[in-house]
Amino acid sequence: MIAYFRTVFTAAWALLQGMAITLKYLFKPSITIHYPTEKLVPYEKFRGALLFDAETCISCNLCVKACPSACIQLENATNPQTKKKIAKVDWYSIDFGKCNFCRLCEEVCPTKPKAVWHSLDYEVVFYTRDEMVRCWKAGINYIGKYWNRKEKIFKDPEGQISIQEVHSRR
Ligand code: SF4
Ligand code: SF4
Repeated sequence: MIAYFRTVFTAAWALLQGMAITLKYLFKPSITIHYPTEKLVPYEKFRGALLFDAETCISCNLCVKACPSACIQLENATNPQTKKKIAKVDWYSIDFGKCNFCRLCEEVCPTKPKAVWHSLDYEVVFYTRDEMVRCWKAGINYIGKYWNRKEKIFKDPEGQISIQEVHSRR
């Protein structure tokens, strides 16, 4: 009989302890969010999708040499009269399928602000292989475009929802 009541008491005590913990957290502010309707902004040093500014780039090639994954390609612009290369890019591309988000390209970039930099965008998804190769030219925004091989046109990436386009640029 004593053992029976001891068991009942232990179970009731455990239940009360559990309820006390629940009550303690019930009135505290929530630390989770309703993703994707609510989104957290990552810390400044977060390495999100790379963005590029064709107007700032001086086509120095340092990022191409620094990239350990060989995923950056660029072509210098040329002076239409002299046909000599100038310190501007004609086009620039990054293959996100190869990028390991190491930040070496951003660190080595000598321009201020950086011409290539990690944004805080973490929702980078790709629906096709084409979308992984992001291209930029003068006049194309920081997010870039991709070459759609079927339609043979440059298109805006559909899978990237930008959280902060320029927030982490230094
Ligand atoms: S983050 Fe690293 S791997 Fe990606 S493009 Fe820059 S240097 Fe290359
Ligand atoms: S992005 Fe920066 S490092 Fe790369 S070519 Fe342009 S200026 Fe040079």
